[in-house]
Amino acid sequence: MLFVNRRASLAAVPPQASMADALTWATGTYELPQAALNPPVVTTTKRLCGSVLCTTSRISPFRSRKRPIFEEQWGCSGRCVLAMVQAAVRREIAGGLETSVAQHRHRLPLGLLMLGQGWITQAQLQYALAVQKLHGGRIGDWLVAECGVAPEHVTRGLSLQWSCPVLTARGFSPAAMALIVPKLFVEEFGLVPLRIAGSQLLYVGFEERLDASAARGLEQMMNLKVESGLVGTLEYSTIRQSLLSQLVAPAKCEVAADADALAARITAILEQKQPIGAKVVRMHRYLWLRLWLEKASRASRGAAPRDHEDILDYIFTVGR
Ligand SMILES: [Zn+2]
Repeated sequence: MLFVNRRASLAAVPPQASMADALTWATGTYELPQAALNPPVVTTTKRLCGSVLCTTSRISPFRSRKRPIFEEQWGCSGRCVLAMVQAAVRREIAGGLETSVAQHRHRLPLGLLMLGQGWITQAQLQYALAVQKLHGGRIGDWLVAECGVAPEHVTRGLSLQWSCPVLTARGFSPAAMALIVPKLFVEEFGLVPLRIAGSQLLYVGFEERLDASAARGLEQMMNLKVESGLVGTLEYSTIRQSLLSQLVAPAKCEVAADADALAARITAILEQKQPIGAKVVRMHRYLWLRLWLEKASRASRGAAPRDHEDILDYIFTVGR
């Protein structure tokens, strides 16, 4: 047993010492835990399996100790990778339902909101509503087209409606941003990645309404905080068009019969592609699997890819 005096032990008390350790120290002596005296030698060749159900006693000598990595964890066998993927798929399917319900909150109609701000008159609003009733379409578009309202006022009105900022294309790089999210999500959810600020904040633009659920999915995938905002119609369509025209390999779209079949398929992909990073997140009715491949740098894992060879995207739907 080793005792050290109070002065000498001060520097030796590990910062993560528990309250009990701290009390022992305060009462006079501190017994250094054995682990502190003989810190375990960390080797990079051996990794612990990430599956909580792991019962493997011997790892195949042919299996890499570094790959595949799924959600920051290594699986020691196909069976353990499957267990990890099954848990992730269940989590995403269950979690996605809550967020889609939370989105349908009542918002003040745009016309009333703009009237309240004094940006349009009662007559303009009534006229635009009448035209909309006849021809359909969006009230904001009619206010601009038929009533001479500035498009900027409509965008500001929408941003008030959604309590979000108005974003611009400043700093937007189509080539870099096209790698952030598969084109399918730009087309279906209308989200356009705009720029990354300070390597921790991703600005995402929408045209007319925010999609909090899709933004949250993207946030989880990218490991970046996502700030959503609205972009003026004209600027938005330019950005969207330049994103969609980028030469990026499209995501592979597949249909799985059910959650178990999906987990099995994802496991097969991980075992075949041996990624150094992989993640699955739900984007509404889709499950998006992204792999970071051999060439991806450690820094880009889970963040913005540097080029299209860094990543591989799969988009799954479950059932019909
Ligand atoms: Zn295992």
